[in-house]
Amino acid sequence: MILPVVKYGNPVLRQKGARIEKITPEITRLIDDMLETMYAAAGVGLAAQQVGKALQLTVIDIKDVRDRPSTLEIGGKPATIADHMPLVLINPEVKPAGKPAAGPEGCLSFPEIYADVERPESVDVTAMNENGETIELRCGGLLARAVQHETDHLHGILFIDRMSSETKKELKPQLDALQETVKAGLKKDAGA
Ligand code: ZN
Repeated sequence: MILPVVKYGNPVLRQKGARIEKITPEITRLIDDMLETMYAAAGVGLAAQQVGKALQLTVIDIKDVRDRPSTLEIGGKPATIADHMPLVLINPEVKPAGKPAAGPEGCLSFPEIYADVERPESVDVTAMNENGETIELRCGGLLARAVQHETDHLHGILFIDRMSSETKKELKPQLDALQETVKAGLKKDAGA
């Protein structure tokens, strides 16, 4: 089932996600719905907060992105990215493993808004997968960026928080307009 994607201005995007201790049928269903929603929106990542659930769960799939390279190592060995997509990360812990690099980012919760964000170019990730198994990965390039962007969501952190103050200033009219529209919509829903 395709779920509505929550936009900037909805308070759930600022909530820290609760840890998931067990893969219940409800969690499996949510993972399936999040994947369907991400593909329908042509996104490369989606966090539970973006479908209104404050949980430590995100899905990522960058295999169809051709113009921005990614790397993946599992157990210290290079892995074929397509074999490991989509990536389901539950309770992910992310540690920087490379120098900061700037790159363009967008977010399904911020339609039409794109900007450069500086993040470590590679990261080490420990997480639980959709089968409840612990996975350890080293990600680079676009995949590292996606993992960091999505893990931020799980802690209520948004990509606008990582932008330079000049960039955020430039985007302020668009961000304010989006936030106002979303808040007005929420008020209307609550009143109806
Ligand atoms: Zn996002």
